[in-house]
Amino acid sequence: MALVALSAIQAYLIGNTYILKKKDFLRETDALVSKINDHELLDSLYFEGWGEDLALHISDYKNNRISKNEVLSRQKEKADSLNLLYTTIFEQELEALDLGFEVDYHRSLETIVVYENTTLDTIYHNTSQTPMVLFGTNFDHDEAVNNDNSRWYSEQEYITTQGDEVLTKTYDLEIRSANMMLIKDWRSIVLGRMAVLLIGSILLFFFVIGLLYYAIKGLIKQKKIADVKTDFINNITHELKTPLATLAVATKSLQTPALQNNATAFENTLAIIVRQNTRLQKLIDQVLSNSIHGARLVLHKESVVDNHFFNAVIQDFKLSHQHAQMTLIQEIYAPEVLLRIDRFHMTTALLNILENAVKYAKEDIVIKVNTKVKNNQYHIQIADNGIGISPKEQEAIFEKFHRVVDSNIHDVKGLGLGLYFTKQIIQAHHASIHLSSTLGQGSSFNIILPL
Ligand code: ADP
Repeated sequence: MALVALSAIQAYLIGNTYILKKKDFLRETDALVSKINDHELLDSLYFEGWGEDLALHISDYKNNRISKNEVLSRQKEKADSLNLLYTTIFEQELEALDLGFEVDYHRSLETIVVYENTTLDTIYHNTSQTPMVLFGTNFDHDEAVNNDNSRWYSEQEYITTQGDEVLTKTYDLEIRSANMMLIKDWRSIVLGRMAVLLIGSILLFFFVIGLLYYAIKGLIKQKKIADVKTDFINNITHELKTPLATLAVATKSLQTPALQNNATAFENTLAIIVRQNTRLQKLIDQVLSNSIHGARLVLHKESVVDNHFFNAVIQDFKLSHQHAQMTLIQEIYAPEVLLRIDRFHMTTALLNILENAVKYAKEDIVIKVNTKVKNNQYHIQIADNGIGISPKEQEAIFEKFHRVVDSNIHDVKGLGLGLYFTKQIIQAHHASIHLSSTLGQGSSFNIILPL
């Protein structure tokens, strides 16, 4: 809103500046061009050349020899005959001014009024924007500038007859005319004079919009980071709570004499303590390895035979998930291929994907692992028939601490670090990982290693 208000104020100020600059420019030009109108020769063309003829024609009009319109048409003819001389002088004077832009000009007729005794007779009165032009070129008055007006008042005589009597009568003649000019392209000249201001304002406007954009973007990013941190703290607290509670119960039971006397129960309880301890250790390791390796992962690559490596990984995975209702189908590329990989990290990366296939499964888990060589690249595909991932989550699950919220997050344990770490390892191998998944049907992770 502040930006909109500022823009409105800026627009208002620019509008005002435009009006002021226009006034200034017209005033400057008016001051220069007005001087030409005082030129002696132009004055004499108007007063002596054109004006004296008018007195004659009005005498004829007074004697009813011609009509008002005829007075005007004769005067127009007279003006036309003098126009070439008028414009030549005017043009010469304009050139001497060296304005740098084109100006049209004319002297137009405003009124011709005859006063005799107490009567007033209007011969001509201009009411329109297109008046009768005496000298100069034709143009409308709506955008023209009035340089000056002239009012010529004189006493005139005419001879008339009344019966047999010849009389000399007098009347007063008033002629008003206007000197007008029209500056061609005045708009672009005024805008040109405001160019620095206009361009400056536009640049400033876009700069402020840019700042606003970055500020809002930064704000959204910060908010996302804050959310991720809150989620992580919630998750880790939840993850730590269960083993700690189990440990508390187990240690308490170890203190009871009944259990101390029962060797098997004692051993079992100890085993529980060891398992919970290992789990806690694993959790801490997972967080630590991310903060240590997160920035830069150092690989120790070695040449590994593909099917030896995959068989070993799958074997270990099967062993640790004996209890699960799981079918694992493996199709490892038949001819042996030597891969340059970090055995330890690549195992972690693949296990993270395999573990997820079990964690986010429905009933009757089916996991398919297949590898093949295509276009000089080694393709590893791990597909499951689990709950699947919605399209809008598919990119995000590789982000640090991201967990899909819809799938009741606390049903399945996790910190949202597994896939993040997997992606880091894959990228460190200059490989890529892609996910294709359909919600409710399963997911397929595809890793492409350069050979
Ligand atoms: P964690 O499993 O610890 O939450 P991960 O980084 O391994 O963290 O996975 C991130 C999220 O991606 C998981 O919380 C889960 O919502 C989703 N996800 C990962 N793998 C699968 C899968 N195979 N099927 C469905 N959802 C998955």
